[in-house]
Amino acid sequence: GKRLLTVGEVLVEIVATTKGDGFRAAQPLTGPYPSGAPAIFVDQAARIGAAAAIISRVGDDDFGRVNLDRLAADGVDVSGIEIARDGAPTGSAFVRYREDGSRAFVFNIAHSACGTLALTPAAEAVIARSDHIHVMGTALSAPGLSQLVLTAIARIKARGGTLSFDPNLRPEILNAPGLRAALEAVLEMTDVFLPSGEEIFLFTRARDEAGAVAELLARGIPEIVLKRGDRGASHFDARGRTDAAPVTVEEIDPTGAGDCFGGAFVGLWLDGTPVGEALRLANAAGAHAVTKLGPMEGAATRTELETFLKERKG
Ligand code: ADP
Repeated sequence: GKRLLTVGEVLVEIVATTKGDGFRAAQPLTGPYPSGAPAIFVDQAARIGAAAAIISRVGDDDFGRVNLDRLAADGVDVSGIEIARDGAPTGSAFVRYREDGSRAFVFNIAHSACGTLALTPAAEAVIARSDHIHVMGTALSAPGLSQLVLTAIARIKARGGTLSFDPNLRPEILNAPGLRAALEAVLEMTDVFLPSGEEIFLFTRARDEAGAVAELLARGIPEIVLKRGDRGASHFDARGRTDAAPVTVEEIDPTGAGDCFGGAFVGLWLDGTPVGEALRLANAAGAHAVTKLGPMEGAATRTELETFLKERKG
């Protein structure tokens, strides 16, 4: 089969077990949970059966090992994850839930090992054997990381490989210097664009969804997969539109839904799965992800997703 690659931050999340309006001293916590959008994506891609690799950098510490062990156990090629020997730690995030269900974070990623990700010989080797690259917008917001991603794209595309793009942008990084230009450059080379909700309007002046889709298709983006949260998902291409109705679930933790959706869709798409089938399973993967506490804990195999869907219809 074809091999896919993604690049970016791997971290752990430590989660408060009770809701409240602030962390308290000696607050009960659970974790560490493996996390980072690209890590969740690649883990779900591997679990659905794709040959999947990630380029990243972790500290020589327990949090790094938690991630490496999980990804390797789930079948991800982790040879492109460098273990830092310079004392830089694995990134971490402390998460709590407010009474209204929204989340607040304390991030420890500004000086994480991944901040100095470099094109190591191991990373070069992974790029050389990849047929597809999945780009996250967040990976374009830091100059060093962005350069590595653009290099990987150039090499993979030059060999006739493909590119999927999830803007995955937090509003607070949208004004990072150079980010706009990098996003536009990536969009030009995109084969599958995977926005969530309002992100469909990031690269268009259209005011409604149909207008935005038409403009993106006219611009030469062959396929658009729109994630709609608890309203399901849609796929658009020159032949038309395919919808997936939402799977009804009890939402436990929304973190990772978009990444699990993307990992499943891209993993299946790359192996030539028909669009309707890839969309159906990706929609299930996103819904399954929100039923589990912990960002990566909801990643599931194809068999698990079929069982999950059957239980909900039964
Ligand atoms: P992101 O995490 O990128 O914001 P979404 O929240 O749109 O992405 O979720 C991605 C996909 O996961 C959705 O398109 C849908 O298929 C599924 N999903 C997410 N939340 C729910 C939910 N509450 N119920 C059912 N499916 C969901």
